[in-house]
Amino acid sequence: MMLANAARHLAKKNAAVGVRSMASLSQFSDFGKTVFTGKVADEYLAKHGGSKEILEDPTWVTTHADTVANAVFDWALDNGANVYCHWFQPLGASGVRHGQSGQVQNMMLKFNSDNEVVQDFKGKTLVKGETDGSSYPNGGLRGTHQAGGYLAVDTSSPIFLRGDTIFIPSVFVSYYGAALDEKTPLLRANAAIDKHGQRLMSALGLDVSSGIVTNIGLEQEIFLIEREDFYRRPDLQLTGRTLIGKDAPRGQEMCDHYMAPLSTSTGALACMQEIQDECWKMGIPLKTRHREVAPNQFEFAPLYGTNTTQIDQNLMVMQIIEEVAAKHGLAALLQEKPFNEVNGSGKHNNWSIATRDGVNVLDPESVLEATGNDTSFPVIMAAVIAAVDEHGDLMRMAIASPGNDFRLGACEAPPAIISTYLGGDMTNYLEAFMNGSEAKYEPGKKTLDLGTREVVPFQVPAEDRNRTSPFPYGGGRFEFRAVGSSQNVSMVNTVLNTIVAEKFGEFADRIEAGEAAADVAREALKKHWKVIFNGNNYDEAMQQELTDRGVWRIDSGVEATARITAEKNVALFEKMGVLTREECESRQDVLHDHYAGTVEMEALTLIDMLNHHIIPSCKNSGVGPLEELQALLPVLEGAIAEIHAADTSMKKAELARVLRLETMVEMRDVCDAAEKVVPASDWTLATYKELLFLDSHSSTQEAPGFPSDMGDYPDMPGM
Ligand code: ADP
Ligand code: MG
Repeated sequence: MMLANAARHLAKKNAAVGVRSMASLSQFSDFGKTVFTGKVADEYLAKHGGSKEILEDPTWVTTHADTVANAVFDWALDNGANVYCHWFQPLGASGVRHGQSGQVQNMMLKFNSDNEVVQDFKGKTLVKGETDGSSYPNGGLRGTHQAGGYLAVDTSSPIFLRGDTIFIPSVFVSYYGAALDEKTPLLRANAAIDKHGQRLMSALGLDVSSGIVTNIGLEQEIFLIEREDFYRRPDLQLTGRTLIGKDAPRGQEMCDHYMAPLSTSTGALACMQEIQDECWKMGIPLKTRHREVAPNQFEFAPLYGTNTTQIDQNLMVMQIIEEVAAKHGLAALLQEKPFNEVNGSGKHNNWSIATRDGVNVLDPESVLEATGNDTSFPVIMAAVIAAVDEHGDLMRMAIASPGNDFRLGACEAPPAIISTYLGGDMTNYLEAFMNGSEAKYEPGKKTLDLGTREVVPFQVPAEDRNRTSPFPYGGGRFEFRAVGSSQNVSMVNTVLNTIVAEKFGEFADRIEAGEAAADVAREALKKHWKVIFNGNNYDEAMQQELTDRGVWRIDSGVEATARITAEKNVALFEKMGVLTREECESRQDVLHDHYAGTVEMEALTLIDMLNHHIIPSCKNSGVGPLEELQALLPVLEGAIAEIHAADTSMKKAELARVLRLETMVEMRDVCDAAEKVVPASDWTLATYKELLFLDSHSSTQEAPGFPSDMGDYPDMPGM
């Protein structure tokens, strides 16, 4: 009987969390069905006299718009959708806007005069939309009296479908063509690296007729916590991070969460499975899932692909994560530093450059094979290294986000100093090249022999990994590790592509004028060698050494943001055709306003938490630093008033940074001292212990004891 009860208990529990018990291919049979590309698009375009080739030439928007619209319409109806939207990425959305995108949804059908339902979706509806949207942050690029905004199809990323809606990836620009979104500059940066990449690569003997693209793979870290507890934390609900909270007696000291089994005892596994299933259906190849270092921290990683599509998909992934988590009684936290004293979350931006037909030009063997020329690869590496050294400030700018304030320089994320790790093998090779060697790069391998009969000796690369570097080379790709988890990474990739495009262009200019490619590269390596750093970036003495070398170091995110309008950077963006001066200035204001606005929300939330929770808890229990707590309120109010009174976005952001990183950090200590002494029965906020330990504190688990109602399980034998 005991056994039967146990089996019954288990059956109910697994049913409750809905874990997918056995893999089957049928689960993937819908893969890509909801993305209008490849075979799916071909089938529908064929019915209207076209084929998938149409979509390969961006001018289809003028030559075949009606054909595509008709095919999209049929495909939509066949898949249960009858609504469409132009889907765009407004500025200043990172971390504050669910799904981080903008959209207005319209029916694809209408009634005609005979009251019959007919198609209301034409080529011209598909390729362009007009929107007001004057309330989006635009940094002064538009007033409400100049509110015209245009949405135009981005043909680089496929149309997709979710639920009853067709999503048409689009750019969002003003009446005068100024970029009001994240995507437009990225597309321009893609054009720049395509143009200058083709020039340099063809000078190096590579067939670039297909064009040059950059591929990225975005590793997404998140926290999953009990939704009930989320509702008991106004700070998590409104700002994404805990503004106060005494550390639990246990944190990540034992690294016991890292890559631990995804057990069925909490809702997390079922939630992650459903996130993956949902993504596969939408053609998003979310391949990897695992637990991360901090308690309740998890990661997903997709197969990589072209940057615009990957970014569109990552925005959808973030939205799906938030939505599916809620279905499982969980709340997903995408903010960079939701909890003190345990790791925050990043979004590693793996980045590589390739010809459109697949030669990875950051991979030495592919380059050698494609060019038959030993010195091509070091020339390409020299250009990337030079770009990082010269424009590390822009890379730092691109990762300045409110959430990353607490992450950069802390123990889990690389510091705010931009260097690159190449590993000993590659560094030695490039050094020899710099000093005149013409040898080809032979990736070193070594054999690990564990001295056992059972585990046979095996080969590993000669390179170790360096997880302290913000921008390590990992054989075939660089990994920008300092990127924040909640960011839209368009600016990150806009910067990478722009700075490298400029160097490719400079190298190409000189080679076209008659200099030897190897000489140009050697000179660049000598000049920029200082940016290569293979040591421990967390070591403070090393950080000082890098600072002394003159490597870009910008500790303040607010100052880093302002680098977008530094003269050298405006000149770079203008020369590469990526951003105008006006667009740089407007973006700076948007980012600073985004920062100050975030801090203001945090300060207002702390005021509420003091008034509604912390102070009453102390009063009710008669313990805790009551007077000190009360004294915090006027300080917060005064600081907010001061921010309001400042006359520029930059000044507001500077004041906000002091409030957040100095004043509010000290205030946190007072609040945490209160939490330390107030009895649990009087403490009304969820504690770190409740928030961080799904495995040992989980209200989606059944209460202890077996269910008594046998009637629930008519099919279970032996009961
Ligand atoms: P790691 O061990 O670095 O955490 P993961 O497997 O978690 O590795 O993630 C690596 C990410 O890098 C994946 O999204 C993968 O698709 C991506 N990636 C691998 N090779 C490339 C490449 N050449 N260009 C861009 N992204 C790549
Ligand atoms: Mg990684």
